[in-house]
Amino acid sequence: MSKPESKGKEVAKITSECIACGACEAICPDDAISISDAGDKYVVCPVKCTYCKKCLEGVCPVDAILTDRV
Ligand code: SF4
Ligand code: SF4
Repeated sequence: MSKPESKGKEVAKITSECIACGACEAICPDDAISISDAGDKYVVCPVKCTYCKKCLEGVCPVDAILTDRV
């Protein structure tokens, strides 16, 4: 009866499909998206992300952004 998946908060997450176009970084109101250290894809900072969902609304050309729980 336990719910191990129910803890934490919802945030956006960028998958390895990211082609580093930068579109999501430009629309994030909380400055939560930035280029990775390797420079080959973008990443979401789960602390800064307020899950406004703007980056989840068709911004990404390769559907690389999904919902995660941290
Ligand atoms: S859900 Fe909103 S706050 Fe979080 S990364 Fe996407 S645009 Fe930024
Ligand atoms: S919009 Fe998609 S492909 Fe472009 S940087 Fe963001 S996650 Fe990567």
